Amino acid sequence: MQAAAALVDREAERLTELDSPIGDADHGSNLQRGFTAVAKALEAEPPVTPGAVLTTAGRQLISTVGGASGPLYGTLLRRTGKALGDAPGVTAEELRAALRGGVDAVAQLGGSAVGDKTMLDALDPAVEALATSFAAAAEAAEKGAVDTTPLQARKGRASYLGERSKGHQDPGATSSALLFAALAEVTA
Ligand code: ADP
Ligand code: MG
Ligand code: MG
Repeated sequence: MQAAAALVDREAERLTELDSPIGDADHGSNLQRGFTAVAKALEAEPPVTPGAVLTTAGRQLISTVGGASGPLYGTLLRRTGKALGDAPGVTAEELRAALRGGVDAVAQLGGSAVGDKTMLDALDPAVEALATSFAAAAEAAEKGAVDTTPLQARKGRASYLGERSKGHQDPGATSSALLFAALAEVTA
């Protein structure tokens, strides 16, 4: 979460720029505010289990990010954290299975599917590639984000643009790639 907060902080401007042509130019500032709150909450009261780290982070995102991405990422982290339970440690396979449930919860909450030009286009292939390695997951997320460019958005603000949403990379898929880059970084 600390690595994710640092990456979001570094890339906030780019995320907001991506959210300009097909959104309302706030994705970077939304996530910067959210992950700053996450980092603070985790420092103030460090949770003792991986599951609690994720549920605490998810709760912070839901309460501080006033945009579609807040409840969606909040749900991802909370659902994943709940699946990890109160185990003191987590294997890569346990994390993969928990994240699978978290990503499915995002799809359910957003009413979205792969190909709709949303964060799911990075999250879904990333979780699949987690079966291979953290590095493969980060690569799959980055590819998924880049591959949203030609798609027409079917969910979120970008969908209001119809055909005109084509030709722009989705900001949420891009931030999802950052989260998996952070995971790959700290597990390398
Ligand atoms: P808002 O659109 O409310 O300003 P953000 O700019 O923070 O919120 O986040 C926008 C991102 O949220 C989009 O780029 C997209 O990836 C994601 N998103 C929006 N709606 C949905 C949805 N229904 N399902 C999945 N992801 C979505
Ligand atoms: Mg926005
Ligand atoms: Mg907004």
